[in-house]
Amino acid sequence: MLIDSHCHLTYDKPEWGGLDALIKRAYEKGVGAFLTVGCSREDFKAVREDAESHNSIFFSVGIHPHEAEKTLKSFPKDSLIQELKDYLDHPKAVAIGETGLDYYYEHSPKNEQRDLFQSHIELSLELDIPLIVHTRDAEKETIELLRDVGQGRVKGVIHCFSGSEWLMKESLDLGLYISVSGILTFKKAEDLRHVVSKVPLDRLLVETDAPYLAPIPYRGKVNEPSYVVEIARALAELKGVSYEKISQLTTENCKKLFSKMGNFSHEFS
Ligand SMILES: [Zn+2]
Repeated sequence: MLIDSHCHLTYDKPEWGGLDALIKRAYEKGVGAFLTVGCSREDFKAVREDAESHNSIFFSVGIHPHEAEKTLKSFPKDSLIQELKDYLDHPKAVAIGETGLDYYYEHSPKNEQRDLFQSHIELSLELDIPLIVHTRDAEKETIELLRDVGQGRVKGVIHCFSGSEWLMKESLDLGLYISVSGILTFKKAEDLRHVVSKVPLDRLLVETDAPYLAPIPYRGKVNEPSYVVEIARALAELKGVSYEKISQLTTENCKKLFSKMGNFSHEFS
């Protein structure tokens, strides 16, 4: 069984034909569980509802770096932290995120991104719930904050990993996991394949980041959780192990990191 460790099911695309059909197609391919990720306050209720509607769906809540400015302008930070805590109290809320830094698009000012990322790290430590980290063109500051604020104790994953070998090594040093997306299958992703080939098997997760970033042979289409099969296949080939082995290991890693999933394992395995 595979787990899609990062998707956005609330972005409900017409191409999906509804959540039930989407999940059914994934089951048929051996994809048995899903982590749907909340990126803004508007998402929170919907990700929780999806998790409550299907045994196999889990959720996370956090503020994406793109949303930092808008969120801080419209809502006091103390209230936001309390709101996150209330959602994270739910048995199927398995992670905080996505959070992090995006200096590539810089849709929010850097200082506001850092401010919220720091708060998410602190909350992760306080509640002992792992972080889902988004980082783009901000490797050094991402690692600095995770190290300094996280005090070497914070758990989490670098989602949709597309960074340097340096980022990979620093993340592993901090005990973090590396999540591989459809980018791994792209023709021009030689550098990424080189870096991922060096990640130990016990630190890898797979994700679609659906509806974005469909893997080859679906590139350019709307992505969906069933396509995580293609990512696992590419990863198995890169690591020189069987597809079954990659499925088993990435699922184990996922349940280990997002440990609240374990309470439900009898229902989706
Ligand atoms: Zn995402």
